[in-house]
Amino acid sequence: MQLVFATNNLNKVKEVQALIPEHITLLSLKDIGCLEDIPETQDTIEGNAIQKATYIKENYGYDCFADDTGLEVEALNGAPGVFSARYAGEQKDAQDNMNKLLNELQGKTNRAAQFKTVIALHINNTLKTFTGICEGAITNNKIGEQGFGYDPIFNPKGYHETFAEMPLSTKNSIGHRGKAVSQLVQFLNS
Ligand code: IMP
Repeated sequence: MQLVFATNNLNKVKEVQALIPEHITLLSLKDIGCLEDIPETQDTIEGNAIQKATYIKENYGYDCFADDTGLEVEALNGAPGVFSARYAGEQKDAQDNMNKLLNELQGKTNRAAQFKTVIALHINNTLKTFTGICEGAITNNKIGEQGFGYDPIFNPKGYHETFAEMPLSTKNSIGHRGKAVSQLVQFLNS
């Protein structure tokens, strides 16, 4: 089975590839000749995941899935949420985003947050969505070198380390994207 993973984020490809069974060949956007920016203009995480997967299905004809992820911080009423990528501006810079979030939370005792991933899958003319959530807290400083995005400031519940201090296998086994992908894999195997 061939499936397109509609992302240009190589970190996501690496995470998802490690979880997908061998009989499914993951195709990248480059593999299908898609070099354009896929629109991501919805106001929910689920809406953006569906928009990206639908764009590829409609314009390139492939069965495909797309993910969208947001970091929801309790003390900020769920922000940055769907705006996580451009939280500190259109440059979509991870360091700027983390600095802004740490500033917003300065002096706040409630540091609770969760990552939410929604995967939208177009297969055999059907659309399905899968949601994975990982609860945790925002640290006071950036710690660790692994991963990407907000990983250095996210401490998953029940662990002493940030995502950026963990091997990929640990992040995948407890993380938002790993949870959503395992539902996707279960569905594809059923
Ligand atoms: P998107 O799903 O690529 O739109 O990601 C939204 C924002 O969340 C971007 O700033 C990403 O860097 C960040 N992000 C997505 N997944 C993760 C993750 O697993 N860990 C940390 N940050 C992430």
